[in-house]
Amino acid sequence: MASIIRALRPLSRNPSVRLAGKRLAAGRPVQSAYAFSTTPRRREVDLSELTPTPITLLSETESLMADSVSKFAVEQIGPKVREMDEAETMDAKVVEQLFEQGLMGIEVPEEFGGAGMNFTAAIVAIEELARVDPSVSVLVDVHNTLVNTAIMKYGDAKAQRTWLPKLTTGTVGSFCLSEPASGSDAFALQTKAEKTADGYKLNGSKMWITNSMEAGVFIVFANIDPSKGYKGITAFIVEKDTPGFSIAKKEKKLGIRASSTCVLNFDDCVIPKSNLLGEEGQGYKYAISVLNEGRIGIAAQMTGLALGAWENAARYVWNDRRQFGELIGNFQGMQHQIAQAYTEIAAARALVYNAARKKEAGQDFVQDAAMAKLYASQVAGRVSSSAVEWMGGMGFVREGIAEKMFRDSKIGAIYEGTSNIQLQTIAKLLQKQYTN
Ligand SMILES: Cc1cc2nc3c(=O)[nH]c(=O)nc-3n(C[C@H](O)[C@H](O)[C@H](O)COP(=O)(O)OP(=O)(O)OC[C@H]3O[C@@H](n4cnc5c(N)ncnc54)[C@H](O)[C@@H]3O)c2cc1C
Repeated sequence: MASIIRALRPLSRNPSVRLAGKRLAAGRPVQSAYAFSTTPRRREVDLSELTPTPITLLSETESLMADSVSKFAVEQIGPKVREMDEAETMDAKVVEQLFEQGLMGIEVPEEFGGAGMNFTAAIVAIEELARVDPSVSVLVDVHNTLVNTAIMKYGDAKAQRTWLPKLTTGTVGSFCLSEPASGSDAFALQTKAEKTADGYKLNGSKMWITNSMEAGVFIVFANIDPSKGYKGITAFIVEKDTPGFSIAKKEKKLGIRASSTCVLNFDDCVIPKSNLLGEEGQGYKYAISVLNEGRIGIAAQMTGLALGAWENAARYVWNDRRQFGELIGNFQGMQHQIAQAYTEIAAARALVYNAARKKEAGQDFVQDAAMAKLYASQVAGRVSSSAVEWMGGMGFVREGIAEKMFRDSKIGAIYEGTSNIQLQTIAKLLQKQYTN
């Protein structure tokens, strides 16, 4: 199968190329200018001279990314979704294909084997994958928006040369912050790092870590000097086969079952000095910054999930199911709900893309990311729940994707900051703005 990224590369190098008769992904129009792209070769664009455009317009490259990922997800992942969910396992072939397709290094510069594309390209890829399977989507999301981003932003030249080529070609990444006693209060983490003659020794446990069954590279946050509180938190890179590192337990979950979520143990786990990511004591800053971006990815996952659940149900009520001699989608009581749900999905998408574009434009996007994640996860919950009802008994049985999308939606309000934590962030920033 041809790589999505390879197919996009010639186009991304030549903004004037236009494809005739292209299909719009989920009704999104294509933007004719590369207005907000942040790839280095496009940074010279002076944003002040650009005419504002609708938030959901995509550049040609982004739009083709959406189309190609959509096609790949429907054709290659779609047939495996139910089986992977039942087996609570990610198909290894799917992971292999994600690398082949170039979806594991979307923003990573080409010199390290990545696609060198912009953040919005990653966001549309995450959204399109979630339309078909939110489990595959979160694997790609964590790998790109947390792991690759952390190394690109905070790794020195040597770290980038060491880790990025692996992460773009075959090694899955994992981001390990949460612990048994520290979830929302993430910086109360108790994993300790001790300096040794030529490196560090880690001791402690991490909990609920996404991608941990598939990953080969783990970004681990540990405290190097607990007397300094959160200012002792430091980021390290741990490879899977490091002695003292083990996967203790794989969780059985309500939703996103094919995505692995495990407890990790570090028992005198010795790593070389070169596996320090960035600087000692800066880990809390790195985690905050990376998670602010990552949250937009989760918001995109939830938007894609909502659209996937909606489309699945819409097709059923408007094509398949008749009651009282009518297609059930012809009843006004159904049509109003379906229209309301689609409107909410469009609103969620606008929040997501706005947050992504603001990040790309170098503007403050923290509140926008929090609002996007909060709202998109609420919409995903509401729409996927309604979609089960619109399909009646067919929505409730474990045959199609309706009940799975409903179960999967719940995680949006929990990981990368619960809904209460998003509300807290939004309120804090608003209060600052409105306090005399
Ligand atoms: C499937 C899954 C995958 C995950 N993947 C990862 C991963 O890859 N890496 C990683 O590091 N972590 C991961 N996590 C952990 C996740 O980020 C945490 O579960 C999340 O941050 C919430 O923490 P908690 O579960 O300890 O809940 P708690 O913090 O105990 O919260 C429980 C409830 O209390 C509320 N609450 C807590 N504090 C406040 C407050 N100050 N004000 C108001 N309400 C509050 C919360 O909103 C929530 O409703 C994952 C979790 C799951 C379930």
